[in-house]
Amino acid sequence: MTVTKGYAAQSKTSPVTPFEFERREPGTTDVQIEILFCGVCHSDLHQVRDEWGGSIYPMVPGHEIVGRVAAVGSGVTKFAVGDLAGVGCMVDSCRECESCGLGLEQYCDQNQIVFTYNSRFPDGTPSYGGYSKSIVVDEAFTLKISPKLDLAATAPLLCAGITTYSPMKHWNVQPGQKVGVIGLGGLGHMALKFAHAFGAHVTQFTTSPGKEDDARRLGADEVVLTRDPEALKALAGTFHFIIDTVSAPHDLNTYLNLLKRDGSMVLVGLPEDPAKVEAFPLAGKRRSLAGSNIGGIAETQEMLDFCAEHGIVSDIEMTPISQVNEAYERMLKNDVKYRFVIDMATL
Ligand code: NAP
Ligand code: ZN
Ligand code: ZN
Repeated sequence: MTVTKGYAAQSKTSPVTPFEFERREPGTTDVQIEILFCGVCHSDLHQVRDEWGGSIYPMVPGHEIVGRVAAVGSGVTKFAVGDLAGVGCMVDSCRECESCGLGLEQYCDQNQIVFTYNSRFPDGTPSYGGYSKSIVVDEAFTLKISPKLDLAATAPLLCAGITTYSPMKHWNVQPGQKVGVIGLGGLGHMALKFAHAFGAHVTQFTTSPGKEDDARRLGADEVVLTRDPEALKALAGTFHFIIDTVSAPHDLNTYLNLLKRDGSMVLVGLPEDPAKVEAFPLAGKRRSLAGSNIGGIAETQEMLDFCAEHGIVSDIEMTPISQVNEAYERMLKNDVKYRFVIDMATL
């Protein structure tokens, strides 16, 4: 065991503060990564404050991890000491079920996903995330990171990136289709970049008038301020696909009405309270309402390679780790441009 420095929440009402804990020594197929940057996801905040229930404390959050390989087990083939490496939301799964076999580990049929933090390994030990100096992860759940991209701005691809890329692939977003993105935060701005890169005609829905110019710069063809119900009504029946990245409760029916016949709206935002869905907007035009959870390891690598090829990274604001609680407060005020990333040199 090696003692590692990090930051943890001790309860759902306490701030995230310095914390020391043990990491396992790298096993045969493990990679030990010196963490250089870690993104701050709204899921960190939901879980630190136990908004989804069942949180495990102390909790070291963080699942947008990039760094440099510091040691490898004797059986590791994909990585060498000194390589860049990334870790996203999962560090293990059953690896045997149908979903795992298809590279859909995030939907493991045995429910044996070990999430990067706020989760337990099969022996019962808790997993601790990326707000820390180092992490040990099986190479099967470790991603290759291209040196072509800015490293800090690459970190958010490990969650915000794959969570928005995966549904656009699954629902087959095509050039020329009308795509809507609801919410311009960490996930939303990545959704915007991917939809634009896939050649869609993209509309950004936002509650924040101050984000209009940024939305255009990030790839939106149109920006709609959602506080104006008339602006939304005018778009009824026009969208092929809408991705909803909103972290707080909001009305879904308004957006379902914007879909064309057979259009799909996919929820990736995970507010703690349930939404009320009306049958009429769905039945009236055979629309679908679905959800999507992060992405598998192979698809995460595909997304990282796509980003390296197309020069896509996140727009970030760097924060020292001592300011992470302030970053949470700003995230709650929708005041993030567009992802906080912790510089781990400050730990
Ligand atoms: P974020 O950076 O805080 O962005 C959320 C955005 O939602 C805000 O910037 C704001 O955009 C909009 N918003 C917030 N409150 C709103 C309200 N009351 N009504 C309407 N819009 C509102 O959060 P994030 O990190 O992108 O995460 C977004 C959600 O996705 C969270 O619930 C997170 O847990 C979830 N998530 C899910 C997955 C998955 O696999 N499904 C993965 C990662 C995260 P505007 O200012 O533009 O309105
Ligand atoms: Zn996340
Ligand atoms: Zn499985």
